[in-house]
Amino acid sequence: MEFVKGIDESKKQALEVAEEAREKEWHHPSFLAQLFAGKCDWNLIYPYPEQTPEDKKTGDEFLDKLEKFLRENLNPDEVDRTGEMPKHVLDGLAKLGCFAMKIPPTYGGLGLSQVNYNRAIQLVSSYCGSTAVWLSAHQSIGVPQPLLLFGTEEQKKKYLPRFAKGEISAFALTEPEVGSDPAKMKTTAMPVENGNYYLLNGEKLWCTNGPVADIMVVMAQTPMTVDGKEKKKITAFIVEKTMPGVESTHRCRFMGLNGIQNGLMRFKDVKVPKENIIWGLGQGLKLALVTLNTGRLTIPAAACGAAKWCLNVSRIWAKEREQWGAPIGHHDAIAYKIASMAATTFAMESVTWLTSRLADLKKTDIRLEAAMSKLFCTEAIWRIIDDTVQIRGGRGYETADSLRGRGEKGIPVERAMRDLRINLIIEGTSEIMRLFISREAMDQHLKFIFPLLNPKIKPAEKIKILFAAIKYYTLWYPKQWMVWKNTPASVVMPRELQGHANYVEKTARKLARNLFQVIMRYQAGLEKRERVLFRLVNIGCDLFGIAASCSRAAMLHAKNPSDQGPVELANLLSREAERRINRQFHGLFKNDDRLGYKLSRDVLEGKYAWLEEGVILQAY
Ligand SMILES: Cc1cc2nc3c(=O)[nH]c(=O)nc-3n(C[C@H](O)[C@H](O)[C@H](O)COP(=O)(O)OP(=O)(O)OC[C@H]3O[C@@H](n4cnc5c(N)ncnc54)[C@H](O)[C@@H]3O)c2cc1C
Repeated sequence: MEFVKGIDESKKQALEVAEEAREKEWHHPSFLAQLFAGKCDWNLIYPYPEQTPEDKKTGDEFLDKLEKFLRENLNPDEVDRTGEMPKHVLDGLAKLGCFAMKIPPTYGGLGLSQVNYNRAIQLVSSYCGSTAVWLSAHQSIGVPQPLLLFGTEEQKKKYLPRFAKGEISAFALTEPEVGSDPAKMKTTAMPVENGNYYLLNGEKLWCTNGPVADIMVVMAQTPMTVDGKEKKKITAFIVEKTMPGVESTHRCRFMGLNGIQNGLMRFKDVKVPKENIIWGLGQGLKLALVTLNTGRLTIPAAACGAAKWCLNVSRIWAKEREQWGAPIGHHDAIAYKIASMAATTFAMESVTWLTSRLADLKKTDIRLEAAMSKLFCTEAIWRIIDDTVQIRGGRGYETADSLRGRGEKGIPVERAMRDLRINLIIEGTSEIMRLFISREAMDQHLKFIFPLLNPKIKPAEKIKILFAAIKYYTLWYPKQWMVWKNTPASVVMPRELQGHANYVEKTARKLARNLFQVIMRYQAGLEKRERVLFRLVNIGCDLFGIAASCSRAAMLHAKNPSDQGPVELANLLSREAERRINRQFHGLFKNDDRLGYKLSRDVLEGKYAWLEEGVILQAY
């Protein structure tokens, strides 16, 4: 990590910890990793990979039961109002197998595919955000997911059947000082009794399901000897609620998701047997990152559920509500919001189900696709819910109970907005997603650059690497200027979408050469140019949206050529996205980033404190 020399020690340490925990190998191809390298490998996403009919049937049957149960037993507004999830709802969900959706039948679970699991989360989140979070925190990041990925057979046999009976789990990584950056973790687990046990001490913040969890996966610093030196490394432990010293000291309350149980967890001298370590000493952070690679796919699925719901609410209201002599949906400004909402919902579904299916097929590396789906869908749903509130006007701001109280339909747009905001923060904030994606996108170049800048590597070795780099770039860079090359003949798109597919093909090369130019231009200083990196990620994000939407529209159109709908949706989405992409390219080298950065430093130093005058500032 000498590439980051010249930056302060704590930041360097944070970057080193993150770098160490990175999955360094790419065992399977990734559409997005290649896209950032200038290659649009349509084979990975075209034809659009669909769920098999058998898998769909399994999902349909389960979803029917789940929907019926939710409609008959769960009142989401009551959950929001009271802040409590009724016991009969949790019991009923457990009986349906909802706490063991992805757990294989051999351990008593439903053994659903990633697609069906995500469909279930989509369904639940369209109805009650809090309930969706109970389920997804438990099995997307809670104990089942890391156990399935890294647990020993003994651990799986011991714990997985308990979830099938309805026990609930949680994932505890965040601490008061540890948000996006785990390097400052204070929770420790020190070996005792010849290393047969670990004494866990510390506090974990915002642990979803924590106060009610039977079992948790807890990340803690453990001492290790690496290269003869004592180092602290993060290790993942299975911790049971019944272990003495485990305590939930405060239930946290939020802007939305009022029905979740989320707490500050305290661990005081909790004696954890060494058998409860998952994957091995020092592997905890990597485990968290790998778990999240697929785990965070439920967030875009949940966002899709919300987007479909918003589209329905907006469509009905924009037709029903008349102002100025016409339904509001016929006024140009509202009409475009609805069209864009429909096209964006189609794109959200396209990236989410593409990535979920790729996760099931296990032939591609989806770490970038999952992060991009999360970024794409969470930012899109925030625009969609904002438009939905606007389309509903005053009713969008009014609570469902109040609407009902004065005799109108209790449509909970206000609750939906409160519930949806968190998606841009949990399981990797939008900023951290962009940093993660840009790091992976640069990997192809950094594998040459890091060794060249590393003083520990001998000059002879460096010369070898330098020659390899020259050879690679002499071929690679000119290729990125092949502006005439279109999509391969095997990619057959409906006429209206062919231009968009060609745009993705060509723009991938433009993206790759711009990424390379940015690295060459800023070198070690690039670490400080987040806005430049983020523009490149935004371009990749929109290209992914266009490619997935066009591929899916082509599949749907081939099945039913008389229906132009999917083509029109993909067409509008692509046109909007291309305009955004062109703006991002324009801003890459011509921008106000430096000016803005300097101004922000002045603001932080209090130079503009006079702007804060004339209001009531309280001491909190
Ligand atoms: C409702 C809820 C449920 C949660 N559930 C869980 C859970 O079950 N388990 C768990 O472990 N945690 C959980 N969390 C914690 C959540 O994952 C964190 O809030 C999240 O990781 C961000 O950390 P932070 O809030 O401390 O923000 P910080 O890391 O302090 O960041 C604050 C802001 O700065 C930005 N930022 C930080 N670093 C950089 C950078 N290098 N460059 C640019 N911008 C940066 C962030 O993007 C963010 O906008 C939950 C939080 C909430 C609110």
